[in-house]
Amino acid sequence: MTTNAGIVRFRYTLDPAVSPIHSTIDLSQPGAQYGHLAIPYSYNLGGWANLQVPIASLRNGPGPTVLLMAGNHGDEYPGQVAILNLWRELKPADLTGQLILIPCLNPPAAHAATRLSPLDGKNFNRCFPGNAQGTPSEILAHYLSTVLFPLADVVVDLHTGGRSLTFLPTAHMHLVPDFAQRKAMLTATDAFLTDVAFLYTDVAGTGLLPVEAESQGKIVITTEMGGGEVVPASVHRLCQRGLRNVLVHCGVLKGIVETRKQPVRWVQALDREDYRFAPESGLYESCFDVGETVNKGDAIGRIHFLERPDRDAVPVLSHAAGMLIAGRAPSIVKQGDCVACIAHDVDPWKGIQ
Ligand SMILES: [Zn+2]
Repeated sequence: MTTNAGIVRFRYTLDPAVSPIHSTIDLSQPGAQYGHLAIPYSYNLGGWANLQVPIASLRNGPGPTVLLMAGNHGDEYPGQVAILNLWRELKPADLTGQLILIPCLNPPAAHAATRLSPLDGKNFNRCFPGNAQGTPSEILAHYLSTVLFPLADVVVDLHTGGRSLTFLPTAHMHLVPDFAQRKAMLTATDAFLTDVAFLYTDVAGTGLLPVEAESQGKIVITTEMGGGEVVPASVHRLCQRGLRNVLVHCGVLKGIVETRKQPVRWVQALDREDYRFAPESGLYESCFDVGETVNKGDAIGRIHFLERPDRDAVPVLSHAAGMLIAGRAPSIVKQGDCVACIAHDVDPWKGIQ
């Protein structure tokens, strides 16, 4: 602790006017450090409570800085498992540069198996660039935007479709306008070794973590590692193998970069029509599995009505041919839920080489 004008401050605490977050580790130091970010909040039995978000730093000599995160949405677990494994397995001697690990950005949501934070009802992935005087989610988003992203060369944010969507396991990315940044992101996304890689657009609001990191010029690597509540062992393996390979590719983890025998299949869903929404509330019947090909006019799914067995099921139609890359996970749907995403083959290098 240091004392300044009678005010006691803990080490590594930013000026509260900048961020109220207190870090128990010093990211400028070499070697291995394990601690947490403390985010002050109150609840009825805890007036001086702190939400503790585990963070580790492994640093060894010169090299890139990679920020590795999962649990942005609580109910998305393969990335959290992969980073927890790396937390215990990696030592500074395995690295050249710095690896910052946050296995779970939203522990209350992960414990509750929810997408949104139970503390403030926020979707963490709509909170960026954040607000130092806001709710716990907004305070952490602000800390990432102003403290951690500026330190990083590479930002990794691991997702799945959560409980609401089943995704074909993919690494995915935005088509950032800067060609040098886009090329670096394409090769890094490729290094995740998924069979399919996906170019996506945002159809559900603004304030996303990747967009903030991209706007700061970072190489941003993200995934949709399946979804629904079941995580097959093969998806855990894919996530863990891909993540290690990305770290080797980025030059922070020592090792030999693995390459796929077959080139990755790139697909994109950049048109709003590629995202299909339930026209009515009801009971959803999937008519295709993710990864299957659909034709224009196909019924991707059908909505049934428990209270009106006499009503014909309402089809959700494909607007174009393509691959079903994501589908509805829960069978109960509300009007306006995204129930399908249809992606189309693309050469992402066309025009930028
Ligand atoms: Zn997510």
